[in-house]
Amino acid sequence: MRADLDRILVSAREIATRVAELGRQISADYAGSRQLLAVGILKGSTIFMADLVRAISIPVSFDFMAVASYGQSSSSSGVVRILKDLEQNIEGRDVLLIEDIVDTGLTLNYLLETLRTRNPASLRVCVLLDKPERRKVAVPIAYVGFKIPDEFVVGYGLDYAERYRNLPDVWVLNPEAYQNNSEVKIQSTSGKDHGYDH
Ligand code: 5GP
Repeated sequence: MRADLDRILVSAREIATRVAELGRQISADYAGSRQLLAVGILKGSTIFMADLVRAISIPVSFDFMAVASYGQSSSSSGVVRILKDLEQNIEGRDVLLIEDIVDTGLTLNYLLETLRTRNPASLRVCVLLDKPERRKVAVPIAYVGFKIPDEFVVGYGLDYAERYRNLPDVWVLNPEAYQNNSEVKIQSTSGKDHGYDH
């Protein structure tokens, strides 16, 4: 298993420090809000969300969505299918979307457009990892854990073919792990093809 892993990009210790900072910042920004709803995008955001909500000192409730993109093309189409929708009505709520990583931005862009039509009081995004080099559409991101280079990463909730989510650190996947494996393409938490050409 470790042969597939190249090196640690963000350590568990760095993540813990940054998550505590984000929690403090979010608690201050939403002070007075009794309506804060953290929405995790399954499955990649679960570990980040579990840590982040415990670093938030104001009342917060949770909900989850699961998404997949349409089609099998090697580049993400930007049209996202909702596999699991929210259970709660977000009208009048302060919604904080929690994502593991933003890459092209297409998934988040679609989610923001969809959720905006449901009239939340506010809608912001918090991502653990941001890969700005691969952005195709500008998405407003209020809170970013770490900006990272264009490398495929796993761990702390992020997977490669459903593996490695339980690693405490964020690792760069060894490109040979997927170049030599034509059976398993780089896919998202939800089975989405991300068009990695590495
Ligand atoms: P976007 O629509 O921004 O291109 O896609 C975002 C999604 O792509 C993330 O939620 C994640 O599922 C997946 N993704 C993008 N980059 C990586 C990566 O480096 N590692 C993993 N495991 N997933 C990634």
